[in-house]
Amino acid sequence: MIVSPAFAGKRYAVLGLARSGMTSVDTLLASGARVTAWDNREEARAALAAKGHPLAEIVDPLTIDIGGYDGVVVSPGVPLNRHPIAAHAIAAMVPVIGDIELFAQARASLPPHVVVAITGTNGKSTTTSLVHHICRSAARPVRMGGNIGLPILGQDPLPAGGVYVLELSSYQIDLTFSLQADIAALINISPDHLDRYDGFAGYVASKARLFQMQRPDQHAVFGRGDAETLRIAHQTEGARFEGRVHVVDPAALKGQAGWPSLQGPHNLQNAAIAIEIASLLGFSEGQWRPALASFKGLPHRMERVAENRGVLFINDSKATNPASTAPALAAFPRVHWILGGLPKGDDLDECEPYFGNVVAAYTIGEAGPRFAQILEPVMPVTRSEMLGDAVRQAMAAAQPGDVVLLSPACASFDQFRDFEARGDAFRQMVEALIVEEKGTAG
Ligand code: ADP
Repeated sequence: MIVSPAFAGKRYAVLGLARSGMTSVDTLLASGARVTAWDNREEARAALAAKGHPLAEIVDPLTIDIGGYDGVVVSPGVPLNRHPIAAHAIAAMVPVIGDIELFAQARASLPPHVVVAITGTNGKSTTTSLVHHICRSAARPVRMGGNIGLPILGQDPLPAGGVYVLELSSYQIDLTFSLQADIAALINISPDHLDRYDGFAGYVASKARLFQMQRPDQHAVFGRGDAETLRIAHQTEGARFEGRVHVVDPAALKGQAGWPSLQGPHNLQNAAIAIEIASLLGFSEGQWRPALASFKGLPHRMERVAENRGVLFINDSKATNPASTAPALAAFPRVHWILGGLPKGDDLDECEPYFGNVVAAYTIGEAGPRFAQILEPVMPVTRSEMLGDAVRQAMAAAQPGDVVLLSPACASFDQFRDFEARGDAFRQMVEALIVEEKGTAG
């Protein structure tokens, strides 16, 4: 765990005691800060009470005067545009921060190190784990944390020369104010999470802040696939020393790829960003090239779960918006496409260029009827409603050489706990149906 004298004798409120919140509490208490913590869930409060720490109290910060506190630490899951804690903190003139800001404040007391911060609408986890993998392959001490699901404060500090690779969502950036990332990267921007922002412009501004926090001598890396990303790159250039802004071109990698876990044009973009970061970290081509080849992709992202009768089954449950589904459709010529869930928007415009690759669509979840309406004029659609039915119908229709693809273009929360549970359910259903089919055939 990271502990820092920066917090000694200070006082914080912590709202939300899931993974990152509880880790923040542990770091603050171990650093000698007083903590007032709260979670609506009884089990979470009980877990903190069980620690019996003399500096911890379990009280809802909304119900007390927090004037004089040094910060309110909230989980990135708290919608600041709607939750009353924001106004409560502003009235008390207390900053609302997240665990990444605590990490930023702890940096001064850590051994000399480098921070790489990676954001973007899509590809964050892939690029983050790729940079982590390159560092490991080259025996550089490294930790990975943030949105990837590993709280950074919970990990042991690195010896001098280490690299902290942080995956940051825009919510986490909104709660961070003093992170001067030595290398910050923006992969791409497309409309997402608009329920939490004042329109697309608000979401774009959130991403741009990652670069506004940096110093002029620090490096900024950008993809070149969309106008908003290029605009932020251009703005950043004005605030940087010569040669500190790097706009990477995935086209330069075309034809030489062949990295098994980095298939498709979107992964070329991720690889190009990771390679630029690797070069800035001082790695040679002889170091990053073999690491790209040995990289094992992440589960639920274009993950091959089975092959049966020449039909390939791909779990891309992590594709929670149309922009991240588009490259999955682009990757295969004959797709049985399972889509739907909790919609993020009203259209599938970003997927439309690849509709020609879709043999048939199977719609599920809340977005099902709307998506069926969009797709019915251009392709055969089965209104499956449930994932299990969709898998069964797609499997029955698929011919050898076809792909059955779960790439929902939606969040999962209408029918599943999270995208992982949805992907796991898909895998289990596929495996069970294959066993059933083999049983019948035998
Ligand atoms: P994030 O962490 O930003 O959500 P992931 O690396 O987990 O991104 O990938 C999420 C989804 O987006 C996957 O379905 C993947 O196929 C797709 N994807 C990955 N990289 C990109 C990219 N650069 N552009 C568009 N889509 C991408």
